[in-house]
Amino acid sequence: MTRQYKALSLLSGGLDSQLAVCVLREQGIHVEAITYKSPFFGTEKAEKAAKALSITQHIIDFTEDILEQVQRPAHGLGNAMNPCIDCHAFMIMRAGELMEKWGFDFIATGEVLAQRPMSQNKTSLGVVARCSKYEDLIVRPLSAGLLPPTKPVREGWIDAERLPRFSGRNRSPQIALAEHYGLKDYPAPAGGCLLTEKRFGHKLKDLLEKEGIDEDRTNVWLLQTGRHMRLSDKTKIIVGSCQADNNILEKQANPNDLRITCPELSGPVTIAPHDIDSDDLKLACAICARYAKKTSDDPVKVEVRRGRESQIFFIDPLPPDATQQYMIA
Ligand code: SF4
Repeated sequence: MTRQYKALSLLSGGLDSQLAVCVLREQGIHVEAITYKSPFFGTEKAEKAAKALSITQHIIDFTEDILEQVQRPAHGLGNAMNPCIDCHAFMIMRAGELMEKWGFDFIATGEVLAQRPMSQNKTSLGVVARCSKYEDLIVRPLSAGLLPPTKPVREGWIDAERLPRFSGRNRSPQIALAEHYGLKDYPAPAGGCLLTEKRFGHKLKDLLEKEGIDEDRTNVWLLQTGRHMRLSDKTKIIVGSCQADNNILEKQANPNDLRITCPELSGPVTIAPHDIDSDDLKLACAICARYAKKTSDDPVKVEVRRGRESQIFFIDPLPPDATQQYMIA
């Protein structure tokens, strides 16, 4: 009886990661999916894809790994704060550790040779493979015929002749293969990782340089929420930009931080550090009032809360053009 080989395949939810699963399955490989989550990328698309593929999916918290790579990227950052080479290597390394623990035979990824000029050229794929420590047990099924054969190919666990030979940025072959497998619902390529966005990168860089990361990582998760404004070297405020932001900020910001609101108007929840000095507090209140929906030119009533303590101020809102200078973007 022939043995059925088992692969753990990295599933981001993008088309390539879905196709990697399909082509391996077609060769009788048992495939399960690994999906990573962190404050910089979620699992929504991957969960949807896993459901459509009817595949067992393992969601793994990657927060500590990606924070380490962002702060000390051995192979540098991309255009923003994205340490793609190190991130890929660590994703494969963690998948390799689970492969050993769970008794799988190899790791698969949806990487396509030369699809991304910096992180998926032949050299980068080689660096990623070596740094992952599982170089000989990685299969990139969509480009396997163009890459040096690893153990699963050399030993005939999979037939490289039956695998695609995709290369470059042209997506037409992938789209044709998606039709072949009946894959209809897949996201547009790229996107999905906040670390590749320049504006988000500025917020993260500011956090790392000026504050450092909270032990429970709350301040990293909150980078996705609201407008982040730096008033001085020691003071950053976060101003909610919609009701959903306000709810998150009220609930998730550090309980010691100040909550600033305009109780008589519809407007933002603003979070400020508890040890803010009086000038910055006045400025934070004026910024909070600037984003409230004012109905007159009178000073705005602003409440500053910390736990059960509360103070009321009457403040003139900061003019919009004076507010912009504080935005971290
Ligand atoms: S885009 Fe984001 S998730 Fe993807 S490899 Fe780069 S840093 Fe990692």
